[in-house]
Amino acid sequence: MKYSQGKQFEQYFHEFIKCFPAEADYVAYGAGNAFYAIREMFGDKLKISYCVDMDCEKKVDGIEVHSPDFLKNHGERKKIIITTNGGYADEIAGRLEAMGYDRTEYCHAQELVSIWGWHYQHKINTLFCAVIVGFACNLNCKGCSEYIGYHKSKEMLSFETVKNTIDNYFSIVDYAIQINVLGGETFINRDIGKICRYMEENYGERFHKMVIHTNGIVVPQENVLTDLRTCDKLHIWISDYSSHISERQRENVRIFQDKLESYHIKYNSFSTYNQKEAEEQWFDLGNPLVKKNQEANILKERFSRCSGICFSVYKDRYYYCVMELSAVETKLYEDAKEQDYIDLVRIQQCGREQRAEKFLRFQLGFLPDGYLSFCDNCNGIGVGVNNQYIGAGIQ
Ligand code: SF4
Ligand code: SF4
Repeated sequence: MKYSQGKQFEQYFHEFIKCFPAEADYVAYGAGNAFYAIREMFGDKLKISYCVDMDCEKKVDGIEVHSPDFLKNHGERKKIIITTNGGYADEIAGRLEAMGYDRTEYCHAQELVSIWGWHYQHKINTLFCAVIVGFACNLNCKGCSEYIGYHKSKEMLSFETVKNTIDNYFSIVDYAIQINVLGGETFINRDIGKICRYMEENYGERFHKMVIHTNGIVVPQENVLTDLRTCDKLHIWISDYSSHISERQRENVRIFQDKLESYHIKYNSFSTYNQKEAEEQWFDLGNPLVKKNQEANILKERFSRCSGICFSVYKDRYYYCVMELSAVETKLYEDAKEQDYIDLVRIQQCGREQRAEKFLRFQLGFLPDGYLSFCDNCNGIGVGVNNQYIGAGIQ
């Protein structure tokens, strides 16, 4: 789901501030990472009366947490901020609408951090961004959202190239709640420790959390682990495709986890092992080489209903969608338009106001065509646009 609701940007911005003012009382739907980051970002300016979360046995940051049913039974209606993202956020929005809430009563965290950030703090904020460090991978998952199986180029970027991209990104963006670091397989990039350390040392005040995504098969060298150990904001998320990989690769994943433990590096492992096939599904994005030649109204609809919001940077280009980034940067797709990404070097020539407007328009999905050109080569993500699935991690 994108945010534009068919409106012009100026009208949308103005109405958002009117519907979600600083004077209102709010409920945070979701008491996870984004909730904490929003509290950190806006402090007392944002009055959160309580949170709603499936895990209702707790208080977070001194604020009470209730079950989602509390909203139905609690008389006084407050403005709601959905703090989750992607498909979960769409699901929550659907639940709220079924309870009679409309878009003047609930908003998404990305809207709040972007619009409040500029309106009240004169800052350019965002929920997250993925820093892509290259496309080489040691697996070849059929449903890979970066189309690894189609790539001819297996490039990994040098430290200098990634460092320049990070510098250019943070010369535009004031605060990102989460920075994801991705490959391909991230640990094939031997500079990954240096990259994360550089980011934390130079921009640690400008993000809440940094996450490396990995399949855990490359056991990092000691110098990489030594650098990563210095990064307090770092978490490693292991997508453990153990049910689809060799015994030797599984053994590497075990060694990888042992190393992280011995270096006290925080990590989570999401394993496909021992789970039922039905629970391990990715959306089948289709063949990136096949252009469907669909009408603009169909593409607008797909873009607007797609749950894929995957801002990502690669070699000084800030893309709306990592699928398009991957297809363009590995030369699978050559019809990208300038509206599909922001050139982080060129945008620096604009004054701050103009730069902010361009950036906010882009990240809130106000694109001149109303969709990305690559949406014509992609089935989209989310039950609202795609009913084709592919097993997670199948080789
Ligand atoms: S999904 Fe991850 S592990 Fe699988 S091919 Fe793609 S980048 Fe590699
Ligand atoms: S390219 Fe695909 S995943 Fe990206 S916004 Fe368009 S439909 Fe969604």
